[in-house]
Amino acid sequence: MAHVSNSFDVVVIGGGPGGYSAALYGASAGLKVALVEKDALGGTCLNRGCIPAKAFLETAAVKRHVEHSAEFGIQSSAPTVDFATTQARKQKIVAGLVGGIAAMCKGRNVEVFNGVGSLGADRTVTVTAADGATETITGRHVILAAGSVPRLIPGFERGGPILTSDEVLDLDTVPSRVAVIGGGAIGCEFASTFADLGSEVTILEGLPKILPGLDADVANVVVRSFKKKGITIKTGVMVKGHTPNGSGGTKIDFGDGESVEVDACIVSVGRRPFADELGLEGTAVKVTDRGFVDVDEFCRTGEPDVYAVGDLIDTPQLAHVGYAEAIMVIKHLLGESPMPVMYDRVPWAIYCHPEVAWAGPGEDACKEAGLDVVVAKHPYKFNSRAQIIGETEGMVKVVAKKNANGTPGQVLGVHMVGPWVTEQLTGGYLAVNWEATVAEVAEFIQPHPSLSELFGETMLSLTGRNFNG
Ligand SMILES: Cc1cc2nc3c(=O)[nH]c(=O)nc-3n(C[C@H](O)[C@H](O)[C@H](O)COP(=O)(O)OP(=O)(O)OC[C@H]3O[C@@H](n4cnc5c(N)ncnc54)[C@H](O)[C@@H]3O)c2cc1C
Repeated sequence: MAHVSNSFDVVVIGGGPGGYSAALYGASAGLKVALVEKDALGGTCLNRGCIPAKAFLETAAVKRHVEHSAEFGIQSSAPTVDFATTQARKQKIVAGLVGGIAAMCKGRNVEVFNGVGSLGADRTVTVTAADGATETITGRHVILAAGSVPRLIPGFERGGPILTSDEVLDLDTVPSRVAVIGGGAIGCEFASTFADLGSEVTILEGLPKILPGLDADVANVVVRSFKKKGITIKTGVMVKGHTPNGSGGTKIDFGDGESVEVDACIVSVGRRPFADELGLEGTAVKVTDRGFVDVDEFCRTGEPDVYAVGDLIDTPQLAHVGYAEAIMVIKHLLGESPMPVMYDRVPWAIYCHPEVAWAGPGEDACKEAGLDVVVAKHPYKFNSRAQIIGETEGMVKVVAKKNANGTPGQVLGVHMVGPWVTEQLTGGYLAVNWEATVAEVAEFIQPHPSLSELFGETMLSLTGRNFNG
């Protein structure tokens, strides 16, 4: 593609959520922007992460609904899975969204350069295309947004039955037996997907519990539900190695002489920042021991006017955190004095079944921080909408600061597990980030009947009066 310019207000390297949001937001503020991407626009999130993983989860949800349709008076035969169609549907969604980003870039005159971008002196970026051709562009500001790639475990190299999230999302059949190494958010989403699709699933987690970092009550609901689905959860076990079985699968050795034979082994032990091709050696951009680009609270690197955002820096590896950092950086380089991102209050969402969503610290984290708290929990099983949709598992938990007189004050954390909680968190997120008190939030009216009533009722109950329980 012929480019009309080689000097820009902002050059962004990396076209994932951190990078494309910086480019589009910057362009909407009137900046002249270049976006350098070596692969597909949309990055991990659109192509190999959030979107395809959630598309698979939705197929799993449809299967669950059909399996329970008789309870609603709809007779149907037992569903069978045609995963090639699932794969094609997912790919269509991805292609549409990637095309949408390209169209938005075009509409806002963001110049997209296809190739590997590497940073040189004075904010010069060399773009090397797949055919080796190079082009040099400069920015008054540069934003590094090269993202992350799956971490691997020695002895579990990709290939055959050993898959990272990248390969799982390309499957077009459902493996009969699946091991998931790593019980974090991504691992649990895959475990949930494949268990609901009929696979025999084993989670192998080195820590004492899966989903570390979650409020314990919430994590317990997920564990109970996973066990009900038939997922085997082995915690406190390290994997030792694996031996291919000659028929496409492999036997994984773990713990104290235990093993499990599977057709697919999903290695889901986190993601490492990908600064590998940014050419930072000759610059003042520092990379930490763990590979993250080192930044200050405004995402500034050591090189003047060079910022870094998203999974490349040591902040929560979430697409929407990348968006927030991108907005903050654009405002900062425009001289608008933005607030730094408050990482301890960002919204978190895990889309396994049951879903999990939260903002702010959990009960234990508050207590460990020495805070005196008041807590209320309410289960979905008494919520009318939850009964109507037939999804009564889970609860809402609110953690509030205890006032000197013992009454609940500021809302510190809102933790949800259950039906569509990723769509219900907004009220809780606002409460936490607005530093609202329980009394203030309890004034708000929730629609009836709705799942979000449970959030309202939990707040109401903290005031000492309520309707239900
Ligand atoms: C299976 C899975 C599910 C997930 N689900 C969720 C979810 O539900 N919600 C959520 O918030 N997050 C989720 N995430 C995390 C989310 O995908 C990442 O946090 C997000 O994509 C990070 O955005 P980024 O822009 O920093 O990096 P990336 O999305 O990794 O994008 C970086 C881009 O930079 C490009 N690049 C790298 N180096 C160069 C270079 N030198 N030159 C040019 N281009 C370069 C890469 O090709 C890539 O396109 C999930 C991740 C996975 C793997």
